[in-house]
Amino acid sequence: MSESTQPCAAEVEQCSPAPARVNSLWFDDGNIILVAEGFKFRVHKSMLAKSSPVFRDLFTVPQPTGPCCKDKDSLPVVNMPDNGLHLLYLLKAIYDRAFFGHNTLTATSVEIAIGIVSLAHKYDMRYLYADVIRRLADIFCTTFETYEARSHQRAGLCTSPIGELPKLAKVSIPLDPVFLINMARQIRTPELLAMLPVAFYHATSQSAESLTQGVVRNRLRAAPGTHGREALHPDDLRRIIAAQRKLVQVNRNATRCFHFHGAYLSPECAARRHSGPCYKGLQLLSQGVVDAGYLGSARPLARRDDWIDDYCKKNLDGKLCKACQENIKRLHKEAREKVWNDLKKLFDLEAWP
Ligand SMILES: [Zn+2]
Repeated sequence: MSESTQPCAAEVEQCSPAPARVNSLWFDDGNIILVAEGFKFRVHKSMLAKSSPVFRDLFTVPQPTGPCCKDKDSLPVVNMPDNGLHLLYLLKAIYDRAFFGHNTLTATSVEIAIGIVSLAHKYDMRYLYADVIRRLADIFCTTFETYEARSHQRAGLCTSPIGELPKLAKVSIPLDPVFLINMARQIRTPELLAMLPVAFYHATSQSAESLTQGVVRNRLRAAPGTHGREALHPDDLRRIIAAQRKLVQVNRNATRCFHFHGAYLSPECAARRHSGPCYKGLQLLSQGVVDAGYLGSARPLARRDDWIDDYCKKNLDGKLCKACQENIKRLHKEAREKVWNDLKKLFDLEAWP
């Protein structure tokens, strides 16, 4: 990651009781100073006004002129009621395309995206809001089709040895659903609310520490933890804990198509019963699924198609024909789609929060 994409500790003055100047957002020709929660920025009114009608209207109102409202260079100082880090991220997104450009780590950081989205919403920056929402929706998909496509793409980026879950962790997408869930609670925009079901689903695989103590804020800083932790509301934590057991049960239903039963074969092979090879093939596949631990998993949305392909190729020696493989994959997809459609109910989100 390039230096310009990191709001690292080195670019802010540390250990000062006064707000720390953010060097990358301190322009000598800036004509306004914004201060928010320990950070100060010297920026341009014209840039802010161009990006936001709220700022534009604010600047048309005569500003207070007392000594406390000016800095030593007689520039207007505006104390913002915003989260300082969120304002830093927002200003970075406005000024520095590399910071929140496509394919940068910051563009896939949920924490940063959520910080930007909250203020882009507040200051009515529609294009920026829509852009960040689009990227968040790539991670927190709102339809089963996109979820399937994204899972497939991510799994494709890494090797998936037989018998192991696809190693999604290898892909650098910091999945911090806590930030999204908390922001949806605050601003309740339809776009964030639509991402909640899958955000809760992702939250069930967070570590116990993250869930109970919160996720460390601002991971990109050199001194992590400076800004505390982002913790879930107790009601949301209850939803996640209550769902853990239900997910195991739901996964049992979603993996029923892997059981050794003729009904899961293609109609032709099912009709041939034990005279065809596919009965034996299904029996072996069923045992493979048990050995891989897929039946007792708490990840009912996990797609096993690649695993099936690998397993059939390496272990079944043509005993399960293509039509039967496709039949099992289709049944599994239908079962997963049902899980997807039930997520809201599963996490008790119908009357959320
Ligand atoms: Zn068959």
